[in-house]
Amino acid sequence: MHIVLVEPSRVGIRIMSELLGGWGDKVTAFADGNDAYRFIADHPDVDIVVTSFEAGNMCGLELCWQIRLLAESGRFVYSIAMSSSKEEGKLTEALDAGADEFIRKPPSKTELLARLRSAARYLNSQRELLRLAQTDPLTGLLNRRAFMEQGEASCTASAGGAASVVCLDIDHFKSVNDRFGHDVGDVAICSVADCISSVENAICGRLGGEEYALMLPGVDVGKAHEISSHLRKAVESKLIGSLDEPLCVTCSLGVASSSASHELSVLLKQADIALYDAKRGGRNRVAIFEERLCAA
Ligand code: GH3
Ligand code: MG
Ligand code: MG
Repeated sequence: MHIVLVEPSRVGIRIMSELLGGWGDKVTAFADGNDAYRFIADHPDVDIVVTSFEAGNMCGLELCWQIRLLAESGRFVYSIAMSSSKEEGKLTEALDAGADEFIRKPPSKTELLARLRSAARYLNSQRELLRLAQTDPLTGLLNRRAFMEQGEASCTASAGGAASVVCLDIDHFKSVNDRFGHDVGDVAICSVADCISSVENAICGRLGGEEYALMLPGVDVGKAHEISSHLRKAVESKLIGSLDEPLCVTCSLGVASSSASHELSVLLKQADIALYDAKRGGRNRVAIFEERLCAA
């Protein structure tokens, strides 16, 4: 685990770093809460923060609160507040400020190790719950809700530059289910998902049934068309499962792009309109959104 230690005194840093690092965990120490917070925000591998109440310019309890707010964006960091004060109210103060745990300073080695084990269990379960809530269980791609959340965040981050959204739907999928059965249909859905997840730097989701979407931050319409054509060929040429009768599927794709400000829901709607243009045009093809399609 990666532990961030926030402790104003040099002696305290030395003692706590030795204790915390004694079990092979990585420890990064700060004398100031502001510096620690910036580091934590920039380093997604940080698991635990152990902070004194006194932590330079940002007090330790404020740091715990700021860390708790990170959970809203799916980032779980476990916070342990520590104080040498014997006052009873310190524990309540720490937990009410958002700390997950409170320890007296300096803690015993066995107590600290037990607290770290408890933190690791908590983090594992929180992260597993998050993974389950975001993932489509059949394909391992993002589910619709997680795709919308991550796609919107990416739209905001890429505002001012290009972005594209691609909608993909398997052609005549009902006949695959009818001919080969639902289980083989599921294998085909996973096989197409594998092709989609090999697209680099894309946010990929299964929106439902045999429909998928990709959000491509920083990608303009020309490049999105190229990526989509490549994906179409990859799906078409992939042999599905190991059946007596060879099975391949094709898919249709719709592309919508924007060069400056983008809203995911708008791009998704436009990509969907283009997708149905690809279906109308004969399937197994890529269509680009154009305003004239809205009237069609
Ligand atoms: P089109 O080319 O117009 O897209 O034709 P289609 O047959 O693919 O049409 P449609 O989108 O209406 O059919 C989708 C089918 O996908 C209907 C549904 O039974 C099937 N389906 C939806 N979810 C699953 C799933 O999880 N597993 C399997 N095997 N089939 C599914
Ligand atoms: Mg279909
Ligand atoms: Mg469909």
